[in-house]
Order: sequence, then structure tokens, then C-alpha cells
Amino acid sequence: MNRHEMLGRAIERREPWDMVVVGGGAVGMGVAVDAASRGYDALLVEQYDFGKGTSSRSTKLVHGGVRYLEQGNVSLVMEALKERGLLRQNAPHLVTDLAFVVPNYEWWEAPFYGVGLKMYDLLAGRYGFGRSEVLSKDETLARLPTIKTEGLRGGVIYYDGQFDDARLLINLAATAAEQGALIVNYAPATAVTKDGDGFVDGVIVRDLESGREFRAPARVVVNAGGPRCDAVRRLAHPGAEPLIAPSQGIHLVFDGSFLAGGTAIMVPHTTDGRVMFAIPWHGHTVVGTTDTPVAEAAVEPLPLDGEIEFILETAGRYLQRTVTRADVRSVFVGTRPLVRAGSGGSTAALSRDHTIHIDPSGLLTITGGKWTTYRRMAEDAVDHAATLARLPEKPCVTRNLNVHGFHRQADNFGPLSVYGSDALLIQDLVRAEPSLARPLHPALSYSAAEVVWAVRVEMARTVEDVLARRTRALFLDARAAIEMADEAASLLARELGRDKAWQRQQVESFRALAAGYLTGA
Ligand SMILES: Cc1cc2nc3c(=O)[nH]c(=O)nc-3n(C[C@H](O)[C@H](O)[C@H](O)COP(=O)(O)OP(=O)(O)OC[C@H]3O[C@@H](n4cnc5c(N)ncnc54)[C@H](O)[C@@H]3O)c2cc1C
Repeated sequence: MNRHEMLGRAIERREPWDMVVVGGGAVGMGVAVDAASRGYDALLVEQYDFGKGTSSRSTKLVHGGVRYLEQGNVSLVMEALKERGLLRQNAPHLVTDLAFVVPNYEWWEAPFYGVGLKMYDLLAGRYGFGRSEVLSKDETLARLPTIKTEGLRGGVIYYDGQFDDARLLINLAATAAEQGALIVNYAPATAVTKDGDGFVDGVIVRDLESGREFRAPARVVVNAGGPRCDAVRRLAHPGAEPLIAPSQGIHLVFDGSFLAGGTAIMVPHTTDGRVMFAIPWHGHTVVGTTDTPVAEAAVEPLPLDGEIEFILETAGRYLQRTVTRADVRSVFVGTRPLVRAGSGGSTAALSRDHTIHIDPSGLLTITGGKWTTYRRMAEDAVDHAATLARLPEKPCVTRNLNVHGFHRQADNFGPLSVYGSDALLIQDLVRAEPSLARPLHPALSYSAAEVVWAVRVEMARTVEDVLARRTRALFLDARAAIEMADEAASLLARELGRDKAWQRQQVESFRALAAGYLTGA
């Protein structure tokens, strides 16, 4: 993945691409992988960094969605459970099984959730992750030693998947590149071009690093702009009715000790009727999420005070320890690309399923769904796009396509396990330059070698790319990430041949951004 080389090839290209994909989140990258692996010529452009949008800000669950089961949406759950199984099969270095316990404080909860979760097991069929079971009080406490014991009757255990969203995205980017797609970050589509009949036949792309614009001609343009896909549609149709009703969700990240024992907690009904999770992730505890309708999808959405208070209060109901703002290591916010059902209404009634929308000019938008179903969404999008562009039919191959980094025993690589087979190459970097083994911060397990790797191999261009998405420092501990910025900037400058002024500017803008991940305690 070399940005300079890929950008150069994109600029030189005169022949139309089979597909140009706008948006480098889970869905767009899935489309690039799918299209390229079928043998179509694909270019993907992302306006910021890969995963800067919602795809680095999820709850980190690869799941069927227990909640949709309760709503009776069996086919949606079955499809997601199948995708959950395929993702673990194709990216075992990044997708792992996780045990969840629903703690029971009322007599009816064990039979009620026990039956519901058996149904969840059943729907997974051969893609099952483990059998759910009703637990006694002691068994529940053995799994969740930090949970409130007062009134605890027992629990129900079930299994789902967990992953590192931004790492999976970067590995999908590498997969897309290996399959022959060109992918360019910091390259917004600023306009859509049309042929004499008014059909979309390409996009204008700006390289944010040089300011240069170029045209990418296309047989079909796939809009995978996520919660901002309506803005892309408006490039082709300024008056287009919005497809998306954005809604934001926040997560609070705490020390790992808040959830000792390695088992996650699932709260099926918070006081506002939502599901909430507390999950162990990279040695920390992630708690979320909320669902707050917003007017538009901000690039860097910020948490509302009420959302922070709500999560603290809910966590406080289930954990023995008092949970306060001072315990929060980081708060991160994502915007859901919820597809509007009919005309307006509350977001709770909106579809979580995915939608393919084709504008009169032939611009194809794929949106909705969730991370877990990105592959299926991409398959549907490419099927439709190929038909629209009259491309020769080629079968989808991603059901059994290993994701870059595929490794069955990645745990053996310790802190480098998320890199899968690439961990060996990072170890080689350290062997060649032993000083790169130095940790970047005592609170987190990241080393200088990972910054160098991110720049050389994973197209990281800024301090934010390295600390937010190639490593997850900003999401795990915002203060530590701020303290890592100087060193990260100096390593980036060395690798990219940038001067001191660039380094200073990078550190300043990262600090300003990271301030939004602190709760102000
Ligand atoms: C709080 C929260 C928790 C969630 N938890 C889970 C979970 O645990 N499990 C799960 O399966 N799903 C989860 N989801 C859902 C999942 O994260 C999203 O469905 C998924 O990430 C959406 O991916 P996307 O590619 O459509 O959007 P995005 O990731 O937002 O990608 C769209 C990209 O398009 C780019 N773009 C926009 N306009 C342009 C342009 N003009 N030119 C170039 N690029 C452009 C944006 O910069 C962005 O990077 C969660 C969502 C939220 C909000």
C-alpha cells in the first residue's frame, strides 16, 4: 500500500474504471475487495483516512444482534450470524469469540433470556460460536467478579464475536490492494461527472496533500459515503431527498479492572429501553452505546453531556465500583447510517438492514447495515453495480477469501497479535533497527516500530492516523495518546521526509482533536 504510487496510477488513468468507489469505510472497502477479487478494475477514494468515519467507532462486536431477535427480525439476525461466522473464518487474527453474560436480578429474567438466547444459538446453525446456558449466582460471579451482588440471582451466558474495527479495515484495504484495486486516502470526490445523456460517468477527485484535482472516469460509481452518503448523492442531484437519518452513539472506555474476568456484560434493557454492553477490549473496558438523533453526520462527532451521564449511571447500576468521569480514559462517538423508513419518524423505527439506492443518473448508493454484514452488503452492491454498468457477470468470491494478515495462532504474537501474519514483518523491522522496540507510552503496549510500519506499509499520513486507527491509542486512553503525539510526529516526519514545522502542526492538530475524547473530568 503505497499512496504515492497508487495516486500516480489513478491520475494517469484515462480508460474508465469498471467501478469507482467513494468512501473508505467498511462498506466501501468491502466493495473494493469484492470488485477487485471478481476481476473488475476498481478505484476507491476516501476523503480523510480509511476508517475515519463510523467504521473505527463501533462497539467492536461481530454479532447477529440479539436485540433484533427481540423485535422478531429473524432473517436479519440469521444473515448477520452467518456473516459473523464467515468473518471469523476469514480473519481469525482479528475476530475472536467472546462470552457475554446477561446478569439477572429479577426472577423472570433467566427463563426469558435463556429461551431467547437459545434461539440465537439455533439461528447460527453451523456458524455457532458456543452454547448459551443459564448460570447460577456463583457461576455468574465467577465470570463477572466486579458486578453488583445485591439482588443478583444468576445470569445467562452466550457467545458472540469481537474485533478491532479499524485494524480490520486496514487489513481489508491491504486485501483490496492485493486483489488489484487502487485505494487512495485523503482524496475526496468533490464532483460527479455525467455523459451527454445525464448518466454518471466518473468523479472529480482532489488530492488533499497537493491540492491537485483529477478526473476518475467510471462505468459505474458506487457511493459508500456511510452517514454522509447523501452529500455524495447531492453532488449528482443537488435536490436529492435524504436517505439517511443520522443518529450518534457514544462509548466510554475505562481501565480493564472494571471488568476483570474477560467476560462481557450485556444489559438487554437500560432505563431508556436500549441494549448496553460492557466489553473487555485491548486490556480496557468499553461501555456503550447511546442512540441520539442528530441533524447531520459530523466528521468528528462530540459526545453530549447527557450521553456521558447516562452511560456512567447505567454502568454504576451493574458494577460494584462507583464509576465517575475521572475513571474515563477515552470517549469516542460514531454516527449510524440509519436508512429512513418512509417519511421520517424516530430513529428507533428505522431499518438496520442495508439499502441499495440507484439515483436517476445511475449513481449507486449502498448504505445502512452494520460492520458485521459489510461483506454481504458489498456482494449485493457489486452485483447491482455490474448489472448497471453492463459488465460481464463474474461470481463473488469473498465468502472464502482470507483477509490480509490471516493467521490462526495470532495470539502467539502478544501485543502484535492484531497484525496477524504481518507481526513477523514488524518483528523483522525491530531486528533491523532495535531501537524501534521502544514503547511509546508506559500505559499502552504500542512501540515505535508500529508507527514506522503504519507509515511504510499501511498508508498512515498523520499523527491521528497512527494514534487513532493504525494503533488504537486515542480510543483506549486519550491522555496517553496526547503524550505519545510528539514521538509519533517525529517518527512520521522521519519516514515521510517532513520538517519541524510539519511536526509541530501535526502535534497541535492532534492535541486539538484528542481534547474531544476527554470527558473534562
Ligand atoms: C455507536 C455505533 C456502534 C456500532 N457498533 C457496531 C458493532 O458493534 N458491530 C457492528 O457490526 N456494527 C456496529 N455499528 C455499525 C457500523 O459501525 C456501521 O454500520 C459501519 O461502520 C458503516 O460503514 P460505512 O462504510 O457505511 O460508513 P463509514 O465508516 O462512515 O464510511 C464512509 C466513508 O465515506 C467517506 N466519504 C464520505 N464522503 C466522501 C467523499 N465525498 N469522498 C470520499 N470519501 C467520502 C467518509 O469519510 C467515510 O470514511 C455501530 C455504529 C455506531 C454508530
